[in-house]
Amino acid sequence: MAPEVDAADELSTTTCPLDCPDACKLVVTVKNDQVVKIDGADDEAHTGGYICGKVRKYADHVYSDLRLQTPLLRSGAKGSGQFSPVSWDEAYAKIVDRIRFDRDRYGAESILPLCYGGSNGKLTQDALDARFFFRLGASRLDRTVCAAPSGAAYQALYGKMLGVSCMDYDDSAMIVVWGNNPHASGVHQVPHIQNAQQQGSKVVVIDPRKTPLASRADLHLPIYPGTDLVVALAMIRWLHQHGFSDGDFIQQHTSGFDQLLDRADEWTVSRAASVARVPESSLEQLFRLYGESDPAVIRCGWGPERNRNGGSATAAILAIPAVANKFKRSGGFTMSNSGAWKLNQASVIQATPPPTRRINMNLIGETLLRANDPPVSTLFVYNCNPVATLPEQNKVIDGLQRESLFTIVFDQVMTDTAMYADIILPATTFLEHNDLRNGYGNTRMGQVMPVIGKIGQSKTNHEVFAELIDRLDLSEPGDLIDVTELSEALLGETMHAQLSQTGELAAAAGPRPVQMKDVFPATPSGKIELFPASLAESSKAGLYRYIADASSSNEYPLALISPALRETVNSSLGYLIDKPAVATMHPTDAGARGIVDGQTVRVFNASGEVFVGIEVGDSVAPGVICLPKGLWMRHTQNNRTSNALAPDTLSDIGAGACFNDTRVEVATTPLNLS
Ligand code: SF4
Repeated sequence: MAPEVDAADELSTTTCPLDCPDACKLVVTVKNDQVVKIDGADDEAHTGGYICGKVRKYADHVYSDLRLQTPLLRSGAKGSGQFSPVSWDEAYAKIVDRIRFDRDRYGAESILPLCYGGSNGKLTQDALDARFFFRLGASRLDRTVCAAPSGAAYQALYGKMLGVSCMDYDDSAMIVVWGNNPHASGVHQVPHIQNAQQQGSKVVVIDPRKTPLASRADLHLPIYPGTDLVVALAMIRWLHQHGFSDGDFIQQHTSGFDQLLDRADEWTVSRAASVARVPESSLEQLFRLYGESDPAVIRCGWGPERNRNGGSATAAILAIPAVANKFKRSGGFTMSNSGAWKLNQASVIQATPPPTRRINMNLIGETLLRANDPPVSTLFVYNCNPVATLPEQNKVIDGLQRESLFTIVFDQVMTDTAMYADIILPATTFLEHNDLRNGYGNTRMGQVMPVIGKIGQSKTNHEVFAELIDRLDLSEPGDLIDVTELSEALLGETMHAQLSQTGELAAAAGPRPVQMKDVFPATPSGKIELFPASLAESSKAGLYRYIADASSSNEYPLALISPALRETVNSSLGYLIDKPAVATMHPTDAGARGIVDGQTVRVFNASGEVFVGIEVGDSVAPGVICLPKGLWMRHTQNNRTSNALAPDTLSDIGAGACFNDTRVEVATTPLNLS
């Protein structure tokens, strides 16, 4: 049990670096080197001093029974979960021996880092880890499981021009929340949206699921997964045809409008409504409301990108405010503010990316199973839990069980992936190390400071990769190791000095930039590129060309979506959920299959099956079933999650994951584990 708070306790300030838009400033109460309480800092405008429930309870993670305290060496069969403690020296020696062996036998491309955001910032991700793998000449990972299609579209159309701050939502006449559930993944937007609605703003939610915001929205459009593109194109066409496009603005500030319009031309309201499975009248209501509202803002989430049309869909959604010129008085769009900072990450890495092969992380299962030349022989997993987060979970698990593969997992707790490791290294949490983190929903950067000592023998990314660089003779004269020196190299002298004094930095554009007034497109032309050549060349079917749903069939007629849970950040902290998973399906679909509320069902397709309890309700549209992401194997009855059903097909642009293209059938077949 957490110790009681008293007046003599120490209060420390730090920043939350979890993969969340907000990078909240935290106040942590510590007693005898133990975390007692975690709260938001009152002096931060963006958060207003409150934080999400998952980080309030983060001490449960820090002191969890699953927390890794020493290095562990596999002592049983792969996946059996049998490990023996070893010293750090033994663990390093094993890793170094294996890497040397693989490098000599197959070449360094046989070594693959597998990592994602985890709870890491600018000094612990793409820092000494990248220096190590670059100098080693390892294969490179394309980190595409999230935001690759959206990032490509956003970069191409706007050069990542900063978005509308949620603090400005209060003054919006209309807010469109498109493929985003802020209650789960961006909680600080919620009060602003609610406040705006109370003041008369119209709120429209576009989501196959009735999210908490959708339940209270003025209009909810439960479009069929993967059809965002056609809705956006129909909206562009309708706005233009009904006199809501701004010719002067388009002429002066955009390029490619005619090509965009040409692609939108086939998407009449009637056709789009038929494909998206929503009433024509609802689409027209959305289009008219948007055309007539000023200021109007579109909050574009990550839902629209997770399908075969994902890149074109995001590009089309982002094009809408440009067509109608909604950039007046804080209107426009919000997506990510990752472009707010120009940081010198190369000076932290101090190594050049090698010309080695690139491996898409969405294809990891296939990659580990395939006879590549060279094969992936050593897999170094850190800052991520691929068994819980990547598509084709059965292939990922089968790949990790390959006897010839040596897997290192460096993590804070015994994850589902760590169970398949050959060697496990215990990592610090963000409350135990230094880092730097910028929000991508706001424009704040904050220092991450250690507020307690390291738990057990855990080490930081920084320490482990510095040691491996040294042991593999990859050090070079002039290497920066000290965290303060790295921070200065990353930020430059002035910003570093400011950060050292205040613990945080504000981006030059300020906290509430107005689009096309304070911030402008950073594209090569300086204009909003509505039909960028880079996307036109790279998109599979042609930019803004809808790819029909080929995976839906009589055999697998239901679309499975796997949205985020409010209790997790990706899969981080998922193991703290102590309830079994529940899938949700519409009464029409349940009735047609003789399924009743509360029953255990088998959700299946050619990739796998999941046995899970079912909730029957209208929070999902007919034809759609929902099983959240971020769950761990323990949450279902056969130790498989929605990822076991997700295909490893790739999106049209950015080679992103297509979780929302999962098509399944559901049956009442009883569980037979024999
Ligand atoms: S997870 Fe997000 S909302 Fe929660 S404390 Fe961290 S940054 Fe804030």
